[in-house]
This record gives sequence, C-alpha cells and structure tokens, in this order.
Amino acid sequence: MRTPIIAGNWKMFKTVPEATDFIQEIKGKAEVEGVESVICAPFTNLPALVEAVKGTSIKIGAQNLHFAEDGAYTGEISGRMLKDLGVDYVIIGHSERRQYFAETDETVNKKVHAAFRNDLTPIVCVGEKLEEREAGQTKEVCKVQTEAAFAGLAKDQATKVVVAYEPIWAIGTGKSSTAQDANEVIAYIRTLITELYDESTANVVRIQYGGSVKPENVTEYMGQSDIDGALVGGASLQPASYIALVEGAK
Ligand code: PGA
Repeated sequence: MRTPIIAGNWKMFKTVPEATDFIQEIKGKAEVEGVESVICAPFTNLPALVEAVKGTSIKIGAQNLHFAEDGAYTGEISGRMLKDLGVDYVIIGHSERRQYFAETDETVNKKVHAAFRNDLTPIVCVGEKLEEREAGQTKEVCKVQTEAAFAGLAKDQATKVVVAYEPIWAIGTGKSSTAQDANEVIAYIRTLITELYDESTANVVRIQYGGSVKPENVTEYMGQSDIDGALVGGASLQPASYIALVEGAK
C-alpha cells in the first residue's frame, strides 16, 4: 500500500513568524492517520519549522537544493546543509525553477542524486506546457522528464522517490486537470517506472498530482487508482485549507 502524501509548496511566501504561527494552527489537525503531511517552505523558514513540528507527524521539506555538497556557488544551498537542519524532503525540478531559473533534466537528475547522498527524499516534478498538451505531447514530455530524473538511481533509491505530475497550465491558474486525465498520465508514469525497474518498484513509488488542487477537489483526485496525493501551492497557504487537504486525502 502506498501512503498518500500531501505536500504544501509555499513557494516564496511567509516570514518566520508567519510560518511558525501556521504550524501552531495545524498541529494535531493536519495529522491524519495514514496520510503523510509535508510543508515545503522557503530556506529562511526551515530551522524554525523543523523546531516547530517536533513531536508531531508533520515533515518539513525545502523547495530546491544545489547538486554540489559545498563550493563557490553564491546564493545556493546544498543537500548537506538541509540535512544538517533536520529537513526530510526536497522539491526538485518544479516547473517554476525550470522556467525561471534554467533548470534542465540534467540538473534535475544531479539534484536527485544529491538528495539521496544526503538522505533527503526528493519530490520530483514533471509535467507538460499548454502547447505541448495541445500538440498531444503530454506523455512524451513526461517520459523524457521522468527517465532523466531517475537516471542512475538504484532500485532501492527509486522506490523512495516521490513524483509530482504537474501540468504547467494547471499551476496557479485555477484550471485543474480532470481527475481522470491526471490519473491516466500518472498511470503512464508508473508504467515508465516499471520499464526502468520492475513492477514491484513501480507499485511502491508515490506519484502526486499538482495544479490547482484545493479542498473542494482533493477527494476526487485521491479516489483515482494511481494518484497518491497532491503537491499544493495556493491552497496550502492558509491553515484551514491545508488541514482540509490532509483530511481529504484519507
Ligand atoms: P497551485 O501550485 O496549487 O497553486 O496550482 C501547485 C504547485 O506549483 O506545486
């Protein structure tokens, strides 16, 4: 059985007091048996968040990392530094990073390896642009991105990867993919993992949907055969909404 995982992606929102107040509000509520609850926050919030969730089942994630351990990379943060803080998860290859910060399939793969070197669980984002969807290239784009992300991973590492299928046209737009369409692409991504490894590996890899998920539609996604949770931006920023997302993933 795959444990569903709800991950909030706060993007570039919240100061430290705002972040810790949020945790006080969700403690004991966004903690539902059988659902994993993860908050992916800006780097500046991470030490305070790791402290704030002590004694709860809520996990903390970063939104990026550099692929080197140390070095002359001004402004960057490494996996070693994140691990040292007590962070468990890291989002890799979010479409905003691919689009605005020139991340490529190659850097995504290097970052996935850096995450594993530092015992961090990667949440790897894949997904097509609107014009790619309209040209019927959704599966091809997801294939290229998924195969690149998993390149060089051993089977035991592959089983731990969380994939987030996020069609770019659905992010922050209010235009979510239908649950059936999302499930079809996610089931396809699972067949790719079967081809790369084997069925038992593909059966344990968790694949989330992301893109305008909110409390009103999360249950529909979760009711699908292959969707194991959601990566949520906008609707993860308010405590009540985040709690409802975690409850809706039961
Ligand atoms: P959204 O963002 O929920 O605001 O659409 C999702 C994401 O970017 O991960």
